[in-house]
Amino acid sequence: MLILSLDIYGNPNEWVTVQDAVTKQAKNQVAWSLGDNIFTLHGGKSRLTGEISELSTPSIIAVRSESKSKYINRVPTLTNRALFRRDRNICAYCGKHFGVDDLTREHIIPRCQQGKDIWTNVVAACVKCNQRKDGRTPEQANMQLLYVPYVPSNAEHLILMNRNILHDQMEFLMQFVPKHSRLFVS
Ligand SMILES: [Zn+2]
Repeated sequence: MLILSLDIYGNPNEWVTVQDAVTKQAKNQVAWSLGDNIFTLHGGKSRLTGEISELSTPSIIAVRSESKSKYINRVPTLTNRALFRRDRNICAYCGKHFGVDDLTREHIIPRCQQGKDIWTNVVAACVKCNQRKDGRTPEQANMQLLYVPYVPSNAEHLILMNRNILHDQMEFLMQFVPKHSRLFVS
């Protein structure tokens, strides 16, 4: 389970572990917090009182030390996992749904024609469509793209990275996801 860390202005920054979040609380770095869920870590037994120490953190925390500019315009790292999740595991050419093992990173303008390995030039494609398209552009191959690739925002990337997002964290992050996102495609 991960805690959503925001900057002091409420912009989503990153996922941190419960341990990290509790440490930030202890260091007085948490300016404010949100979220319906509270996580508690049980520490050691106090020698004086015999009580077990407990440290808690809410599911969303705003951290004082984070600067605003660090993450807000960050381009997320392009990985197959994040790409396939951006594209909802749907092949951009045949429109069918596939498992991760049957998908490939397809370069719209192919590498052999100087196409770049960037978010806006790649889509998820099934092995069959990728092989059929080969080293050609969609126009050259006469294969139509079913959707337009885009760079995920940091908030969207945080959603794509974490499979165990809590309801309150998801609700918070969705406010930052642009309307063109494929996350809104059901
Ligand atoms: Zn396909």
